[in-house]
Amino acid sequence: YGDYNQKIDYVFKVVLIGDSAVGKTQLLSRFSRNEFSVDSKATIGVEFQTKTLVIDQKTVKAQIWDTAGQERYRAVTSAYYRGAVGAMLVYDMTKRQSFDHMARWLEELRGHADKNIVIMLIGNKCDLGSLRAVPTEDAQEFAERENLFFMETSALESTNVETAFFRILTEIYRIIS
Ligand code: GDP
Repeated sequence: YGDYNQKIDYVFKVVLIGDSAVGKTQLLSRFSRNEFSVDSKATIGVEFQTKTLVIDQKTVKAQIWDTAGQERYRAVTSAYYRGAVGAMLVYDMTKRQSFDHMARWLEELRGHADKNIVIMLIGNKCDLGSLRAVPTEDAQEFAERENLFFMETSALESTNVETAFFRILTEIYRIIS
């Protein structure tokens, strides 16, 4: 993988959306650099990170976009969604409100994104099990109703983070290839 001459077969843009503080930035940092930082981010504006992986013997460059705080001002723009083939809808399983807002985020996403976009619902912070405010079944039911993939993750403990990204990228690959 250190070979930067490697041929890239596909570039997939995936956007992270959801309320502020649900863990979008940490999920991205865990996936792209295997890091978790305890300080909150200081960056402003849209940013993305890439990670190259192999799916079905093809080299796929995942370009994962983070809102970098824009969601606080309801200023996530259509440029953010442009060209996205995947979206991760993230809530914090210890904050019921962040789950209740998923319907709104989904509506915004469907209003801006391509109709074939692959969407995955993510319940983050599953390491805080004792503070759980969203039962798995509620999320599963919502995901089934809305035709979304679903997974519970912890960016802190690394639980299901790679699995979730790999799953969405594989589904995108299936549609596109
Ligand atoms: P964003 O605003 O959605 O990008 O959220 P951040 O990634 O900045 O995370 C918000 C806060 O939640 C920070 O204090 C993180 O350290 C914390 N956090 C993020 N992911 C997890 C997780 O999986 N478990 C726990 N316990 N805390 C997390």
